Amino acid sequence: MAVAARKFEFEVLAASAGARRGRVHTGRGSYETPVFMPVGTRGTIKAALVGQVAEIGFEVILGNTYHLMLRPGADVVGAFGSLHRFTGWKRHMLTDSGGFQVMSLGAEYSENGARFRSIYDGSTHTVTPEEAVELQELIGADIQMVLDVCTMLPASRDKVERALELTHQWARRARAAKSRDEQAQFGIVQGGGELDLRAESAKFIAELGFEGHAIGGLAVGETREEMLAAIETSVEHLPDAKVRYLMGVGDPIGMLEAISRGVDMFDCVAPSRIARHGQAMTFEGKLHMKNLRYQRDPGPIEEGCPCPACAEYPRGLIRHLLNVGEPTAGTLLTLHNLTFMHRLIAKARDAIVAGTLGDLISDVRIAWDSAPNQVPEQ
Ligand SMILES: [Zn+2]
Repeated sequence: MAVAARKFEFEVLAASAGARRGRVHTGRGSYETPVFMPVGTRGTIKAALVGQVAEIGFEVILGNTYHLMLRPGADVVGAFGSLHRFTGWKRHMLTDSGGFQVMSLGAEYSENGARFRSIYDGSTHTVTPEEAVELQELIGADIQMVLDVCTMLPASRDKVERALELTHQWARRARAAKSRDEQAQFGIVQGGGELDLRAESAKFIAELGFEGHAIGGLAVGETREEMLAAIETSVEHLPDAKVRYLMGVGDPIGMLEAISRGVDMFDCVAPSRIARHGQAMTFEGKLHMKNLRYQRDPGPIEEGCPCPACAEYPRGLIRHLLNVGEPTAGTLLTLHNLTFMHRLIAKARDAIVAGTLGDLISDVRIAWDSAPNQVPEQ
Protein backbone atom coordinates (compact mmCIF):
# COMPACT_ATOMS: atom_id res chain seq x y z
CA MET A 1 0.00 0.00 0.00
CA ALA A 2 1.36 3.39 -0.94
CA VAL A 3 2.18 5.71 1.94
CA ALA A 4 0.31 8.98 1.61
CA ALA A 5 2.60 11.99 1.12
CA ARG A 6 2.77 14.30 4.10
CA LYS A 7 0.36 17.18 3.82
CA PHE A 8 1.78 20.62 3.18
CA GLU A 9 2.01 22.23 6.60
CA PHE A 10 3.57 25.28 8.17
CA GLU A 11 4.91 25.04 11.68
CA VAL A 12 5.86 28.15 13.68
CA LEU A 13 8.94 27.33 15.79
CA ALA A 14 9.45 30.76 17.36
CA ALA A 15 7.92 34.20 17.01
CA SER A 16 9.03 37.62 18.14
CA ALA A 17 7.70 41.11 17.46
CA GLY A 18 5.59 40.04 14.48
CA ALA A 19 8.29 37.84 12.87
CA ARG A 20 8.11 34.05 12.65
CA ARG A 21 10.85 31.40 12.56
CA GLY A 22 9.21 28.36 11.04
CA ARG A 23 9.38 25.15 9.05
CA VAL A 24 7.36 24.05 6.04
CA HIS A 25 6.62 20.34 5.70
CA THR A 26 5.86 18.89 2.28
CA GLY A 27 5.70 15.51 0.58
CA ARG A 28 9.38 16.01 -0.39
CA GLY A 29 10.61 16.83 3.12
CA SER A 30 10.83 20.15 4.85
CA TYR A 31 12.46 23.56 4.57
CA GLU A 32 13.19 26.28 7.11
CA THR A 33 11.70 29.79 7.13
CA PRO A 34 12.23 32.65 6.69
CA VAL A 35 13.56 31.43 3.34
CA PHE A 36 15.09 33.16 0.33
CA MET A 37 14.58 31.38 -2.99
CA PRO A 38 17.12 32.04 -5.76
CA VAL A 39 15.43 32.41 -9.15
CA GLY A 40 16.18 29.81 -11.81
CA THR A 41 14.40 31.58 -14.63
CA ARG A 42 14.97 29.15 -17.49
CA GLY A 43 15.70 25.93 -15.63
CA THR A 44 19.01 27.06 -14.13
CA ILE A 45 20.30 29.79 -11.84
CA LYS A 46 22.13 32.09 -14.27
CA ALA A 47 25.92 31.67 -14.15
CA ALA A 48 25.85 28.97 -11.44
CA LEU A 49 25.30 25.23 -11.21
CA VAL A 50 22.39 23.96 -9.10
CA GLY A 51 24.89 21.84 -7.15
CA GLN A 52 26.72 25.04 -6.15
CA VAL A 53 23.43 26.64 -5.10
CA ALA A 54 22.60 23.59 -2.96
CA GLU A 55 26.14 23.69 -1.51
CA ILE A 56 25.52 27.26 -0.27
CA GLY A 57 22.59 25.84 1.67
CA PHE A 58 19.51 26.93 -0.27
CA GLU A 59 16.52 24.66 0.17
CA VAL A 60 14.05 26.08 -2.39
CA ILE A 61 14.52 27.59 -5.85
CA LEU A 62 12.01 29.18 -8.20
CA GLY A 63 11.32 28.41 -11.86
CA ASN A 64 9.48 30.74 -14.24
CA THR A 65 6.48 29.15 -15.94
CA TYR A 66 6.41 31.87 -18.60
CA HIS A 67 9.89 30.95 -19.81
CA LEU A 68 9.57 27.18 -19.38
CA MET A 69 6.23 27.03 -21.24
CA LEU A 70 7.76 28.84 -24.23
CA ARG A 71 11.20 27.21 -24.17
CA PRO A 72 11.52 24.25 -24.04
CA GLY A 73 7.72 23.83 -23.47
CA ALA A 74 5.90 22.46 -20.41
CA ASP A 75 5.35 19.16 -22.26
CA VAL A 76 9.10 18.80 -22.82
CA VAL A 77 9.81 19.38 -19.11
CA GLY A 78 6.93 16.99 -18.35
CA ALA A 79 8.60 14.31 -20.50
CA PHE A 80 11.43 14.20 -17.94
CA GLY A 81 8.91 13.36 -15.21
CA SER A 82 9.47 16.55 -13.23
CA LEU A 83 11.27 19.86 -13.20
CA HIS A 84 13.62 18.24 -10.67
CA ARG A 85 14.78 15.57 -13.12
CA PHE A 86 15.04 18.13 -15.92
CA THR A 87 17.13 20.65 -13.94
CA GLY A 88 19.12 18.38 -11.60
CA TRP A 89 17.89 20.28 -8.51
CA LYS A 90 16.95 17.83 -5.75
CA ARG A 91 15.33 20.05 -3.12
CA HIS A 92 12.11 22.07 -3.17
CA MET A 93 10.97 24.07 -6.20
CA LEU A 94 8.25 26.62 -6.73
CA THR A 95 6.95 27.79 -10.09
CA ASP A 96 5.34 31.19 -10.55
CA SER A 97 2.32 31.38 -12.84
CA GLY A 98 3.88 33.79 -15.31
CA GLY A 99 1.52 36.60 -14.20
CA PHE A 100 4.35 39.00 -13.46
CA GLN A 101 6.24 38.33 -16.71
CA VAL A 102 3.17 38.74 -18.91
CA MET A 103 2.32 42.01 -17.12
CA SER A 104 5.88 43.28 -17.73
CA LEU A 105 5.49 42.43 -21.42
CA GLY A 106 2.24 44.37 -21.80
CA ALA A 107 -0.32 41.56 -21.69
CA GLU A 108 -3.99 42.15 -22.53
CA TYR A 109 -6.40 40.83 -19.93
CA SER A 110 -9.92 39.53 -20.36
CA GLU A 111 -12.17 37.43 -18.19
CA ASN A 112 -10.86 34.44 -20.07
CA GLY A 113 -7.17 34.94 -19.36
CA ALA A 114 -4.00 36.84 -20.27
CA ARG A 115 -2.94 37.34 -23.89
CA PHE A 116 0.74 38.07 -24.48
CA ARG A 117 3.57 37.80 -26.95
CA SER A 118 6.53 35.45 -26.68
CA ILE A 119 9.88 37.22 -26.15
CA TYR A 120 11.44 34.42 -28.20
CA ASP A 121 9.59 34.67 -31.52
CA GLY A 122 6.81 37.25 -31.10
CA SER A 123 4.08 34.60 -31.33
CA THR A 124 0.83 35.35 -29.47
CA HIS A 125 -0.33 33.14 -26.59
CA THR A 126 -3.31 33.15 -24.25
CA VAL A 127 -3.11 31.55 -20.82
CA THR A 128 -6.25 30.98 -18.77
CA PRO A 129 -6.14 30.44 -14.98
CA GLU A 130 -6.92 26.75 -15.58
CA GLU A 131 -4.12 26.43 -18.12
CA ALA A 132 -1.65 28.05 -15.71
CA VAL A 133 -2.54 25.28 -13.22
CA GLU A 134 -2.27 22.58 -15.89
CA LEU A 135 1.11 23.90 -17.12
CA GLN A 136 2.52 23.99 -13.60
CA GLU A 137 1.20 20.52 -12.83
CA LEU A 138 2.94 19.29 -15.98
CA ILE A 139 6.18 21.08 -15.04
CA GLY A 140 5.81 19.48 -11.62
CA ALA A 141 7.35 21.76 -8.96
CA ASP A 142 6.41 21.32 -5.27
CA ILE A 143 4.51 24.61 -5.10
CA GLN A 144 2.52 26.30 -7.86
CA MET A 145 1.18 29.85 -7.96
CA VAL A 146 -2.19 30.99 -9.29
CA LEU A 147 -2.40 33.27 -12.32
CA ASP A 148 -3.02 36.85 -11.16
CA VAL A 149 -3.20 40.35 -12.61
CA CYS A 150 -0.35 42.49 -11.39
CA THR A 151 -0.42 46.29 -11.85
CA MET A 152 2.63 48.53 -12.16
CA LEU A 153 2.51 51.38 -9.61
CA PRO A 154 1.51 54.14 -9.42
CA ALA A 155 -1.86 53.14 -10.89
CA SER A 156 -5.36 54.64 -10.73
CA ARG A 157 -7.75 53.11 -8.21
CA ASP A 158 -10.01 52.06 -11.11
CA LYS A 159 -7.23 50.10 -12.71
CA VAL A 160 -6.28 48.41 -9.42
CA GLU A 161 -9.95 47.53 -8.78
CA ARG A 162 -10.37 45.97 -12.23
CA ALA A 163 -7.15 43.96 -11.78
CA LEU A 164 -8.32 42.79 -8.36
CA GLU A 165 -11.67 41.61 -9.66
CA LEU A 166 -10.01 39.42 -12.30
CA THR A 167 -7.35 38.23 -9.82
CA HIS A 168 -10.10 37.03 -7.46
CA GLN A 169 -12.18 35.32 -10.17
CA TRP A 170 -9.06 33.62 -11.48
CA ALA A 171 -7.93 32.52 -7.98
CA ARG A 172 -11.27 30.77 -7.49
CA ARG A 173 -11.01 29.08 -10.90
CA ALA A 174 -7.37 28.06 -10.29
CA ARG A 175 -8.29 26.48 -6.95
CA ALA A 176 -11.07 24.49 -8.61
CA ALA A 177 -8.72 23.37 -11.42
CA LYS A 178 -5.97 22.00 -9.18
CA SER A 179 -5.75 18.22 -9.50
CA ARG A 180 -2.39 17.06 -8.09
CA ASP A 181 -2.55 16.44 -4.34
CA GLU A 182 1.20 16.29 -3.83
CA GLN A 183 1.60 19.84 -5.16
CA ALA A 184 0.80 22.86 -2.96
CA GLN A 185 -0.93 25.88 -4.48
CA PHE A 186 -0.57 29.45 -3.23
CA GLY A 187 -3.14 32.20 -3.77
CA ILE A 188 -1.94 35.77 -4.39
CA VAL A 189 -3.14 38.95 -2.66
CA GLN A 190 -3.20 42.02 -4.94
CA GLY A 191 -4.63 45.52 -4.46
CA GLY A 192 -1.74 47.82 -5.38
CA GLY A 193 -1.12 50.52 -2.81
CA GLU A 194 -4.84 50.81 -1.87
CA LEU A 195 -4.93 49.52 1.69
CA ASP A 196 -8.68 48.81 1.78
CA LEU A 197 -8.35 46.77 -1.42
CA ARG A 198 -5.35 44.91 0.05
CA ALA A 199 -7.48 44.02 3.09
CA GLU A 200 -10.41 42.91 0.90
CA SER A 201 -8.07 40.83 -1.25
CA ALA A 202 -6.35 39.14 1.71
CA LYS A 203 -9.74 38.19 3.19
CA PHE A 204 -10.99 36.85 -0.15
CA ILE A 205 -7.85 34.80 -0.89
CA ALA A 206 -7.70 33.44 2.69
CA GLU A 207 -11.22 31.99 2.22
CA LEU A 208 -10.28 29.83 -0.77
CA GLY A 209 -8.32 27.18 1.15
CA PHE A 210 -4.88 27.56 -0.44
CA GLU A 211 -1.91 25.81 1.19
CA GLY A 212 -0.05 29.14 1.40
CA HIS A 213 -0.58 32.82 0.69
CA ALA A 214 1.47 35.21 -1.41
CA ILE A 215 1.55 38.99 -1.46
CA GLY A 216 2.02 40.11 -5.05
CA GLY A 217 2.15 43.35 -6.99
CA LEU A 218 4.82 45.00 -4.84
CA ALA A 219 8.33 46.30 -5.67
CA VAL A 220 6.74 47.53 -8.92
CA GLY A 221 7.36 51.28 -8.57
CA GLU A 222 6.06 52.21 -5.09
CA THR A 223 8.22 53.58 -2.23
CA ARG A 224 9.47 51.25 0.50
CA GLU A 225 7.03 52.86 2.98
CA GLU A 226 4.09 52.21 0.63
CA MET A 227 5.27 48.65 0.14
CA LEU A 228 5.54 48.02 3.90
CA ALA A 229 2.06 49.48 4.54
CA ALA A 230 0.59 47.16 1.87
CA ILE A 231 2.41 44.18 3.43
CA GLU A 232 1.18 45.05 6.94
CA THR A 233 -2.43 45.30 5.79
CA SER A 234 -2.23 42.07 3.79
CA VAL A 235 -0.64 40.13 6.67
CA GLU A 236 -3.25 41.41 9.12
CA HIS A 237 -5.98 39.62 7.16
CA LEU A 238 -4.09 36.39 6.36
CA PRO A 239 -4.19 33.47 8.83
CA ASP A 240 -1.09 32.98 11.03
CA ALA A 241 -1.28 29.24 10.52
CA LYS A 242 -0.26 29.43 6.86
CA VAL A 243 3.04 30.39 5.26
CA ARG A 244 3.31 33.85 3.64
CA TYR A 245 5.37 34.64 0.56
CA LEU A 246 6.28 38.14 -0.62
CA MET A 247 6.87 37.88 -4.36
CA GLY A 248 9.85 39.52 -6.04
CA VAL A 249 11.32 41.35 -3.03
CA GLY A 250 14.90 40.53 -2.06
CA ASP A 251 16.67 43.79 -1.26
CA PRO A 252 18.23 43.26 2.18
CA ILE A 253 16.34 46.01 4.02
CA GLY A 254 12.98 45.41 2.34
CA MET A 255 13.25 41.69 3.03
CA LEU A 256 14.14 42.11 6.72
CA GLU A 257 11.38 44.69 7.20
CA ALA A 258 8.90 42.25 5.64
CA ILE A 259 10.16 39.44 7.91
CA SER A 260 9.49 41.70 10.89
CA ARG A 261 5.89 42.03 9.60
CA GLY A 262 5.29 38.28 9.44
CA VAL A 263 6.43 37.28 5.93
CA ASP A 264 8.20 33.91 5.58
CA MET A 265 9.25 33.40 1.94
CA PHE A 266 11.06 35.59 -0.60
CA ASP A 267 12.44 35.45 -4.12
CA CYS A 268 14.33 37.99 -6.17
CA VAL A 269 16.49 37.98 -9.30
CA ALA A 270 18.55 40.95 -8.05
CA PRO A 271 21.36 39.11 -6.17
CA SER A 272 22.34 37.16 -9.28
CA ARG A 273 21.47 39.92 -11.76
CA ILE A 274 23.59 42.61 -10.08
CA ALA A 275 26.39 40.04 -9.67
CA ARG A 276 26.63 39.76 -13.45
CA HIS A 277 26.93 43.56 -13.54
CA GLY A 278 29.87 43.55 -11.13
CA GLN A 279 28.13 44.39 -7.86
CA ALA A 280 28.90 42.50 -4.65
CA MET A 281 26.44 42.39 -1.75
CA THR A 282 28.15 42.54 1.67
CA PHE A 283 27.32 43.34 5.28
CA GLU A 284 29.11 46.66 4.65
CA GLY A 285 26.75 47.49 1.75
CA LYS A 286 27.05 47.09 -2.02
CA LEU A 287 30.52 47.12 -3.60
CA HIS A 288 31.17 48.01 -7.26
CA MET A 289 33.91 45.54 -8.07
CA LYS A 290 34.98 47.23 -11.32
CA ASN A 291 36.29 50.12 -9.25
CA LEU A 292 39.97 51.03 -9.78
CA ARG A 293 40.47 50.88 -6.01
CA TYR A 294 40.34 47.06 -6.21
CA GLN A 295 43.00 46.75 -8.97
CA ARG A 296 45.81 45.62 -6.65
CA ASP A 297 43.61 44.49 -3.75
CA PRO A 298 44.72 41.02 -2.51
CA GLY A 299 41.80 40.64 -0.07
CA PRO A 300 38.57 38.69 -0.62
CA ILE A 301 35.30 40.40 -1.64
CA GLU A 302 34.23 40.10 2.01
CA GLU A 303 36.28 38.93 5.00
CA GLY A 304 34.67 35.96 6.71
CA CYS A 305 32.48 34.96 3.74
CA PRO A 306 32.61 31.18 3.16
CA CYS A 307 31.80 31.36 -0.59
CA PRO A 308 34.14 29.88 -3.25
CA ALA A 309 34.98 33.37 -4.58
CA CYS A 310 36.07 34.71 -1.19
CA ALA A 311 37.91 31.48 -0.30
CA GLU A 312 40.19 31.49 -3.33
CA TYR A 313 40.23 34.72 -5.28
CA PRO A 314 41.46 38.28 -4.59
CA ARG A 315 39.35 41.33 -5.35
CA GLY A 316 42.01 42.30 -7.92
CA LEU A 317 41.26 39.17 -9.99
CA ILE A 318 37.48 39.67 -9.80
CA ARG A 319 37.93 43.27 -11.02
CA HIS A 320 40.19 42.10 -13.85
CA LEU A 321 37.78 39.36 -14.97
CA LEU A 322 34.89 41.85 -14.97
CA ASN A 323 36.85 44.39 -16.97
CA VAL A 324 37.88 41.91 -19.67
CA GLY A 325 34.38 40.39 -19.84
CA GLU A 326 35.22 36.89 -18.57
CA PRO A 327 31.98 35.01 -17.68
CA THR A 328 33.75 33.51 -14.64
CA ALA A 329 33.43 36.92 -12.97
CA GLY A 330 29.62 36.59 -13.11
CA THR A 331 29.83 33.08 -11.66
CA LEU A 332 32.08 34.14 -8.77
CA LEU A 333 29.96 37.18 -7.90
CA THR A 334 26.72 35.17 -8.22
CA LEU A 335 28.06 32.59 -5.75
CA HIS A 336 29.16 35.38 -3.43
CA ASN A 337 25.86 37.30 -3.57
CA LEU A 338 23.77 34.17 -3.07
CA THR A 339 25.99 33.25 -0.12
CA PHE A 340 25.39 36.74 1.29
CA MET A 341 21.60 36.26 0.96
CA HIS A 342 21.83 32.88 2.66
CA ARG A 343 23.91 34.32 5.53
CA LEU A 344 21.50 37.24 5.87
CA ILE A 345 18.52 34.89 6.15
CA ALA A 346 20.43 32.73 8.65
CA LYS A 347 21.10 35.83 10.76
CA ALA A 348 17.41 36.79 10.54
CA ARG A 349 16.36 33.29 11.73
CA ASP A 350 18.75 33.51 14.71
CA ALA A 351 17.63 37.07 15.48
CA ILE A 352 13.94 36.06 15.55
CA VAL A 353 14.75 33.33 18.09
CA ALA A 354 16.95 35.72 20.13
CA GLY A 355 14.44 38.58 19.88
CA THR A 356 17.04 40.86 18.23
CA LEU A 357 15.63 41.29 14.71
CA GLY A 358 15.30 45.06 15.25
CA ASP A 359 19.07 45.33 15.88
CA LEU A 360 19.86 43.34 12.74
CA ILE A 361 17.57 45.57 10.67
CA SER A 362 19.23 48.75 11.96
CA ASP A 363 22.75 47.37 11.30
CA VAL A 364 21.85 46.39 7.73
CA ARG A 365 20.03 49.68 7.20
CA ILE A 366 23.11 51.68 8.30
CA ALA A 367 25.39 49.69 5.98
CA TRP A 368 23.06 49.66 2.96
CA ASP A 369 21.61 53.14 3.17
CA SER A 370 25.02 54.81 3.66
CA ALA A 371 25.90 56.82 0.59
CA PRO A 372 29.53 55.90 -0.32
CA ASN A 373 28.84 52.27 -1.25
CA GLN A 374 25.92 53.19 -3.45
CA VAL A 375 27.85 55.32 -5.93
CA PRO A 376 29.38 53.44 -8.84
CA GLU A 377 32.93 54.76 -8.89
CA GLN A 378 35.55 54.08 -11.54
ZN1 LIG B 1 32.01 35.60 -0.70
